Amino acid sequence: MTWIKALLDLAYPRFCVVCGQKLSAQEEHICTLCLATLPRTNYHLHLENPMEEKFRGKIPLEKTAALYFYQKGNLSCNIIHQLKYKQQPEIGIFFGKIYALEILSSGFFNGIDYLMPVPLSTQRYKQRGYNQAEMIALGISKVTNIPIAPPVIKRIHNNPTQTHKNRIERVLNTEHLFLAESTETLSYKHILLIDDVVTTGSTLTACASSLTNTSGIRFSILTLGYTL
Ligand SMILES: [Zn+2]
Repeated sequence: MTWIKALLDLAYPRFCVVCGQKLSAQEEHICTLCLATLPRTNYHLHLENPMEEKFRGKIPLEKTAALYFYQKGNLSCNIIHQLKYKQQPEIGIFFGKIYALEILSSGFFNGIDYLMPVPLSTQRYKQRGYNQAEMIALGISKVTNIPIAPPVIKRIHNNPTQTHKNRIERVLNTEHLFLAESTETLSYKHILLIDDVVTTGSTLTACASSLTNTSGIRFSILTLGYTL
C-alpha cells in the first residue's frame, strides 16, 4: 500500500543510484530526472553502429544494444559500480527490466532463443556472491519471457589486470578465457550475450568464440554500459 511505502520512506529513505538524491515513493533505484537524462546510445535502432563495429567479422553477429554511454567520471557510472562492487544485485534485475521494456517495441528481442550472461570465474563468483550479468539477464527474461541458456560455458579465469597493456595484448590475453562443453543444445540458436559494460569487446568476443564451433549459432549482444 502506498501509505506504508511512504512511511517506510520516511523511516528508511532510499536514494538515487546516480545522483544520490532522495527517491520519492514511486521511484525505484533511480530518480525520474536521472532516468530521463541517462545518455542513451540507441544502438538497438541501427544494425550498423560503433558497438557492432567492435565485433564485426569476429563472430556471427546480428544485433547490438547498450542502454547508455559509460564514461569514467560521469555520475551514471555509479549504476555499474553499485551493481558490481556494493552488493546490490537487484540493481541488475531492475535495469535489465527497464531496458527490456524500453526497447521491446523496437523488435530487438524478436527471434532470440536464449539469453546468455557472460559467466564469472568460480573464484570471482564466490567473492561477489552473484554474477551481475546474470542479474541483468534475469530482468530481461522477466519482461521478454526468453529463457536463460543452459550453463554450457565456464570462465576459466578472470581478466588479469590490463591497465598497462595495449589493445592487441588485451585481445591475446582474453583469447582462452572461456571453455564450452555440451553445446549441441545451442545448435541453430540465436543467443543474446549479456554483460554489464562493453569496452574493447574482447571479453564478449572470447565468450562467443568459445561457442563458434556450434553449428548455425549466431549472436546478438546487449550491455547496460558502452564505453566509447
Ligand atoms: Zn538521480
